[in-house]
Amino acid sequence: MAVPIRAAVAALPAYKPGKPAATGDGTFKLSSNENPFPPLPEVLAAVQDACTGMNRYPDMGNSAALAALANFLTTDAVPVVEDNLSFGTGSVAVLYHLLQAVCEPGDEVIYAWRSFEAYPIAVQVCGAVPVEVPLRADATHDLDAMLAAITPRTRAILVCTPNNPTGPAVGHEELQAFIDAVPEHILVAVDEAYVEFITDPAAARGLELWQDRPNVSVLRTFSKAYGLAGFRVGYAVAEPALTAAVRAVSLPFGVSVPAQAAVIAALAAHDRLLAQVAELVRERDALAAGLADLGFELPDTQANFVWFGARERTADFAAEFTKAGLMVRPYIAGGPWDGVRVTVGEPEANARVLDVARRLRG
Ligand SMILES: *Cc1c(COP(=O)(O)O)cnc(C)c1O
Repeated sequence: MAVPIRAAVAALPAYKPGKPAATGDGTFKLSSNENPFPPLPEVLAAVQDACTGMNRYPDMGNSAALAALANFLTTDAVPVVEDNLSFGTGSVAVLYHLLQAVCEPGDEVIYAWRSFEAYPIAVQVCGAVPVEVPLRADATHDLDAMLAAITPRTRAILVCTPNNPTGPAVGHEELQAFIDAVPEHILVAVDEAYVEFITDPAAARGLELWQDRPNVSVLRTFSKAYGLAGFRVGYAVAEPALTAAVRAVSLPFGVSVPAQAAVIAALAAHDRLLAQVAELVRERDALAAGLADLGFELPDTQANFVWFGARERTADFAAEFTKAGLMVRPYIAGGPWDGVRVTVGEPEANARVLDVARRLRG
């Protein structure tokens, strides 16, 4: 007889990764919100150097990376110390750890929908129950409805800002009022995977909200702006007791030797990486303006992707992009939030996105 699988696990939706592009055949991978720039030479050199120590386990405490990150995040307004920081193999892993640290079986976790595909999986893996609150028509979080969805079983709320896959950021004041209205025993995890791409000055600044609010945690990743998706590193900022709990459930030695070296080198090269981000933001804004000129009414994007709310035309849209050699990310569930997410990539790829969009309009 086969070993029975835990009911919560058997019911899990599978995570759908972005389609890989075949290399060198003129196709572009615009399906996983990656940074299209190749690694900076100094980051690559630090990683290669670290590989000479691959026969040894990594530093389990990530101490050098923790120190570098605490130093990097600390501002006059918001001091961040090492006891506030926990690393994981991507911020998705850290989210798993956060939820595992706070959720009892049957507890409810509220998040907006459509939002990040990993949320329903992360919630169910730890035996908690997903409570999905529809986005507003403009693809923004409906924080009032999320507040109204709180019950005595609510243990955590996930806020994705900017929201993947639709693009808008939550407003700072709106999020502050929301968090202040949430009972203090409920964790509010602010997922800032795309924070470096934000240009709207009114957008939420998670770290400022985290300060003085012990039920808030901010999730960040090195996968997007920092170009380290292949190395799997993300982190949570949280008060020390919550951080200790997250570390306690983390797999030992999760962040590898080269990944730790890459984090330190990437933080040291922060200015150069942010210059790349600025170029991507210019490309994004030009693409969004071009699409608006064509008559597309897309949600505001504060991230490195655009969202076509194509609904019943989603499969057609995706097929057109694929025909043009663009791997994009269709979401097809048969509902109002079916659509296509397209990552801002190389200039040539973005020009091709506009060409396809023109045909789709035509
Ligand atoms: C990409 C992404 C993450 C981080 O992914 P990791 O590669 O696991 O760090 C987290 N949240 C959202 C919304 C994302 O899009």
